[in-house]
Amino acid sequence: MATMEEVSVMIVSNAAQGHINPTLRFANRLISKNVHVTIVTTELVQNRILNAHNVPSTTLNQQPSQNKQIQFEFFSDGLSLDFDREKNSETFINSMKTIGAKNMSTLITNLAKVRDYYCIIVDPVLLTNIENVSNELNIPVAFLWMQPCATFSISYRYFRNVNSFPDLNNPNEIVQLPGLPLLKVRDFPTYMLPSFPPHCRQIMVDMCQACDTNVKWVIANTVYEWEVEGVKSMSSLSPVYTIGPLVSDFMIEKNDVSNNNMINMWNVEDSCIDWLDNKPNSSVIYIAFGSIVVLTQKEVDNIANALKNSKKSFLWVIKPTLKGSENDATEFPKGFLEETKGRGLVVTWCNQEKVLSHPAVACFLSHCGWSSMIESVTAGVPVIGYPYWLDQPTIAKIIVKQFENGVILNYEVNEVPSVEEIERCIKEVMEGQEAKEIKKRAVDLKVSVKKALEEGGSSDKSIDQFINDVVDAHNLAKA
Ligand code: UDP
Repeated sequence: MATMEEVSVMIVSNAAQGHINPTLRFANRLISKNVHVTIVTTELVQNRILNAHNVPSTTLNQQPSQNKQIQFEFFSDGLSLDFDREKNSETFINSMKTIGAKNMSTLITNLAKVRDYYCIIVDPVLLTNIENVSNELNIPVAFLWMQPCATFSISYRYFRNVNSFPDLNNPNEIVQLPGLPLLKVRDFPTYMLPSFPPHCRQIMVDMCQACDTNVKWVIANTVYEWEVEGVKSMSSLSPVYTIGPLVSDFMIEKNDVSNNNMINMWNVEDSCIDWLDNKPNSSVIYIAFGSIVVLTQKEVDNIANALKNSKKSFLWVIKPTLKGSENDATEFPKGFLEETKGRGLVVTWCNQEKVLSHPAVACFLSHCGWSSMIESVTAGVPVIGYPYWLDQPTIAKIIVKQFENGVILNYEVNEVPSVEEIERCIKEVMEGQEAKEIKKRAVDLKVSVKKALEEGGSSDKSIDQFINDVVDAHNLAKA
């Protein structure tokens, strides 16, 4: 029987900001349970980290994690570092499938020569890319789903023809699926819809198929108690280990505030924390749309006007856009910054977990990216949902129907929420009886996070179970 000291896993992660930090945190949780972790990711991550932190590359393998460290290994996806992968996703995916996959396979093969890896944990986006090498090396594969179990369940049921679905061209068709609230097609992840670019949709088709063939374990960044019916209903199809939420330790009061678990794609403006220090408790609206969404001019105008009219304090993240991107010319409405001086602060990037943990923050106007949502839940901060695409419409539905810790802006598909609608939502989460009830539910949810992550909690037990299952599978294969 192998001792736990010998267990090594490899995590293969893509470069997205919303993925790299949860990956790091999962790695740290595995390390705390005496598992050796190697993170394999692209040189783009390496470059962004080095630029943002201004550190020499040799220090990357010194990310402190208790007494152990994560081993980082990088490969090239075949494109130059300044290539706009979000804008040219088809070229990126093709390069990743060809040159990237080859480089990644070579790296993984070389790593496996010096270490006995029990399992490769892969980001679903890269699943097909590692199929060949994992088969050749005979290393079982798990995938780390960075979204709630609900979006996995909907996608799997659709792409594997488990349930019957209505016409996905009609956003108002109603669907009832096991373990999920009543949904409309417009609440589905957009990567399922016929209108989604076929090369991106194919990733989901392949991923769901791989669950029936190559993937041995599915690990989800969620909490069992948040999605009991959804997780139970998946147990006979493709069981899920619920190990979340993957947030920094300081958010769950295990540690002091530090950046140990963070890789930032842009420079963090920490001065906003000092600014928050001077604001009364529960007085500031925090606005951020994650690392991918870029607001249009109309959207910036409507949010800005609603903030101005609300008379509330706000902290707004507007990340730097890539040169040449469509929306890099967005500007605030004339006079906005002057009229909101003192009560408004705009930054290009912040430590969002620190911001959400700050007592001055009253609510979070967000695109409903899952990492943002689990951070908000962990901090007990109510949400104003402004979902864009991908998994965000489904997550928004979870916020109002299951979590009940926020409100969602009401607007038609392909339209922009009006100034009045944004103002209405701000009022609803910040003023009156309804706001008090939303806040109470947000605080209750926060408690559920602590319980899930403490020793013997559902997520802690799920990680233990995963490690045991990986060890058993390894022993069986070696017997
Ligand atoms: N984030 C951050 N600073 C910011 C804005 C966002 O650190 O100013 C982080 C946030 O904490 C979260 C991630 O970026 O971990 C965004 O992930 P999410 O899944 O919410 O959205 P995505 O970027 O994938 O659209």
